[in-house]
Amino acid sequence: MKKAIFPGSFDPFTLGHADIVRRGLQVFDHIVIAVGVNEHKQGWIAAKERLRALRELYKDNANVSVERYEGLTTDFAKRCGAGFILRGVRSLKDFEYELDMADVNRQLDENLETVVLLAHPELSAVSSSMVRELHHFGHDIQTWLPENLNYKL
Ligand code: ADP
Repeated sequence: MKKAIFPGSFDPFTLGHADIVRRGLQVFDHIVIAVGVNEHKQGWIAAKERLRALRELYKDNANVSVERYEGLTTDFAKRCGAGFILRGVRSLKDFEYELDMADVNRQLDENLETVVLLAHPELSAVSSSMVRELHHFGHDIQTWLPENLNYKL
């Protein structure tokens, strides 16, 4: 079985992230959405709420699970029994970052392969930070989130 982890902050999880999961399932049998939590960084949406809302969103999809993780992504992938790290790329800037991350992760675990999917052109401007900013200025952010994803903000 081809299993990948899709690590990120997902603060919040956007239409862009959902598109990567949907298309990733054409490549992998199972995707673990790995919600990265840093004890020293609060984040915008509390980690517990990020997990709750995502588990609710994917509750009927047996090929997707949602887990919290702290520490090294490679360690988490190993604990999950995943052979792949799935990531998305929107721009050259993303690409450079992902290249560096993939290099480091390969050094930590050479059996772990990073697979990058290119963002859908219509979603390449969507980012969690943009959604947070829009919310800050009073916009309805649901347009940028999967329809059935409901955060208690
Ligand atoms: P991180 O904090 O690790 O950068 P994010 O939650 O911002 O995590 O994003 C997780 C992954 O999803 C990253 O690989 C990021 O490039 C990708 N991603 C974010 N937004 C989009 C989008 N609109 N389309 C495709 N991929 C995206």
